[in-house]
Amino acid sequence: MTQLDDHRWMTRAIDLAHRCPPTTGAYSVGAVIVDANNKEIAFGFSREVDEAVHAEESALAKIDPDDPRLATATIYSTLEPCSQRKSRPRTCAQLILEVKIPRVVIAWREPSLFVADCQGYELLTAAGVTVVELPELAEQARAMNAHLSV
Ligand SMILES: [Zn+2]
Repeated sequence: MTQLDDHRWMTRAIDLAHRCPPTTGAYSVGAVIVDANNKEIAFGFSREVDEAVHAEESALAKIDPDDPRLATATIYSTLEPCSQRKSRPRTCAQLILEVKIPRVVIAWREPSLFVADCQGYELLTAAGVTVVELPELAEQARAMNAHLSV
């Protein structure tokens, strides 16, 4: 995956984040899972199927967890995958580790608004996942969350 590919897929994730139904209690996030041949496997966004679903979770729910493409896939998420949540038993960081996606690309880190200290980046990195941050796209990824005073 080249840097150009990373930018293109993150831009798609940002477009998806704009499709989230607005709310005051959670961030709007977009996610895309892409295989090693640079083809999209699945996408998701916050609150896509119910009011608590997260973007990464929604994308992963569309794929068979045993899909062999996941072993070499990249997941693009506009926001760092969560490491704590109230609404579901499993966090997005856990879900990503369970399906063994080896590479995660994010645009911004979770600020301490809803969760005191998001450990998604640290958890994934500690488990051997490559986490790439694209700070140059952070402003675009944050734009639809401006009302949350981050
Ligand atoms: Zn999450």
